[in-house]
Amino acid sequence: VSADATIQIIGAGPAGSSAAISATQNGARVQLIERSHFPRHKVCGEFLSPEIVPVLDRLGVWSLIEAQGAARIRRVVLHFGERERGSRLSDTAFGFSRYALDDLIFQRAIELGAEPQADAMPHDGPIISAAGRNQHSPRGHRLFGFKAHFTGPADDAVELFFFERCYVGVTTVENGITNVCGLGPESLLARMNFDIDDLVSRCRPLAERLSPLSRSMKWLNTGPLIFRNQFRDAAALTSYPAGDALSFVDPFTGSGLASATITGELAGQFAAGKRPIEEYVARCRAVLHRPFEVSSLFRAIASTRLAAHLSGLVPADWLFRLTRPNPA
Ligand SMILES: Cc1cc2nc3c(=O)[nH]c(=O)nc-3n(C[C@H](O)[C@H](O)[C@H](O)COP(=O)(O)OP(=O)(O)OC[C@H]3O[C@@H](n4cnc5c(N)ncnc54)[C@H](O)[C@@H]3O)c2cc1C
Repeated sequence: VSADATIQIIGAGPAGSSAAISATQNGARVQLIERSHFPRHKVCGEFLSPEIVPVLDRLGVWSLIEAQGAARIRRVVLHFGERERGSRLSDTAFGFSRYALDDLIFQRAIELGAEPQADAMPHDGPIISAAGRNQHSPRGHRLFGFKAHFTGPADDAVELFFFERCYVGVTTVENGITNVCGLGPESLLARMNFDIDDLVSRCRPLAERLSPLSRSMKWLNTGPLIFRNQFRDAAALTSYPAGDALSFVDPFTGSGLASATITGELAGQFAAGKRPIEEYVARCRAVLHRPFEVSSLFRAIASTRLAAHLSGLVPADWLFRLTRPNPA
């Protein structure tokens, strides 16, 4: 294989490692550049929407995730202040930590021959950009995320708590661990010195939900979170963007990881075949349209009467998608 036939992939999160697996499955040689070390914790709701299962199966990792005890999530419960509403998910979803997930996909890529590297060297061949979301944004109305693991009684519901322009998701993951992850406006978090224990205690139903649990790691923060995509800029792109680098939607949709692995798989195929970047982006756009709008978490939430109470609490475009009567 000549040097410029090698595909360089920047970032070995779910999108980059999926791209590496798919590119090697399509006969390409791959350099996988990652600046952090796995396993590592990552701020994430750790909710896997059902759409991810066939993708991870094709990539050869789903059986490993099941073997490591991914929790089955069958219900969604929404809390708006003191009001509560539950709904069954139409398909089973899963709770699985990023600590385990990212490492499993990465190790599978290495097993298939992807060459791990810490730094990117100048490269002539195809490049897949899978370095995650763009973090640049001016101060102002910015959102930040936080998460920690807890131990204690497990459950089969993903619960979402909305309060003071924050929302917090509670989901069981593997080994009976409960993941607690949320988003809040910078102004409120800064006023509270990013003390997340204090923040969650401001919401009575959430504090009650957490009361039988003990936090087993320190709170992690991330941000700012900027929701954006590169679909309109496709003609100017010189690499294949995948995952959050292509499109970062609000975590509330529960479809970020499915989108990352789907676009990673496609990026690997297109780059291995040296097919045009613009065609790749158009394909992603067509494929992502559905998971974004019919993610079963989303659909279950939309079916609850409490969806109407999201008004004023979440940005209008979330609400638009949430309340679409007939998802395309
Ligand atoms: C608060 C929050 C909660 C979320 N909850 C959920 C959820 O419950 N379910 C869901 O499906 N999605 C959720 N998401 C979305 C999900 O986390 C992302 O969609 C997913 O991580 C995207 O994967 P990725 O591989 O594109 O990016 P990432 O996971 O960010 O991976 C990018 C990788 O690139 C590496 N990297 C970056 N720059 C470089 C560089 N220059 N050189 C080398 N390596 C580099 C990073 O170290 C990282 O490992 C959530 C997101 C947030 C912020």
